[in-house]
Amino acid sequence: MRKKLVVGNWKLHGSLLNNQSLINQLKQDLHGLNWVDAAVCLPYVYLFQAQQLLQDSPIAWGAQNVSQFTEGAYTSCISAKMVAEFGCTYTIVGHSERRALKLESNQIASKRLLHALHAGLTPIFCVGETLDERDGGMAEMIVKNQMLNVVYGLDDEAFALAKKFNMVIAYEPVWAIGTGEHATPEQAQRMHAFIRYMVSERDPEFAQQVRILYGGSMSPANAQSLLSMPDIDGGLIGRAALVAEDFVEICRIAE
Ligand code: PEP
Repeated sequence: MRKKLVVGNWKLHGSLLNNQSLINQLKQDLHGLNWVDAAVCLPYVYLFQAQQLLQDSPIAWGAQNVSQFTEGAYTSCISAKMVAEFGCTYTIVGHSERRALKLESNQIASKRLLHALHAGLTPIFCVGETLDERDGGMAEMIVKNQMLNVVYGLDDEAFALAKKFNMVIAYEPVWAIGTGEHATPEQAQRMHAFIRYMVSERDPEFAQQVRILYGGSMSPANAQSLLSMPDIDGGLIGRAALVAEDFVEICRIAE
């Protein structure tokens, strides 16, 4: 039985003041949370604030990315080791908004994944196709290529870390992110089952444990139907994570 996981991706939103009130509201409403794992991924500069406010709560926190480098002359980069120092449990890797900016190829995402694992973080590795790719019948091929980083791109040592730190996969169809148009539960389930099948090719036991989140306009209105699918183990939530009531409601639905 996989415990559901609901992760908020705050993207480029927040201020010290707004974060404080959003986090305090989440802490209050999710107090005693034990039926679902919940986390928020904030901009780097607010990780210290998250650590201060969330350290005694059941809500975990994480970064939205980590560098493909460990250290050196890489102005503005933030390493996995650095974010780990702020108590992060998670980091998102390979989000389509990073891939779209052409800053993150599959190879780069793969390096980030590796550094996250070596820093003891739980990566939330994002995969998903664009609308053109789906319309062209290439959705599975695109996701397969992205998943190859996980399935065959990690050596045995790194794969052992992925198991140890419960690596998470997020299926996020690009056409559903921030658009208000979500995948149907059947579309999402089909892809989630395919992703689990790909993981099973490397490690059948881990395939049964790995949590595969759905991301793309998940909201209180559609969470029930998506989260009731057998291979959907939670959500990666953008817009709805910025409204405490919505995020809390999705966590309740995920029970
Ligand atoms: C996301 O950014 O990962 C996401 C799923 O955003 P939204 O929920 O707004 O579609």
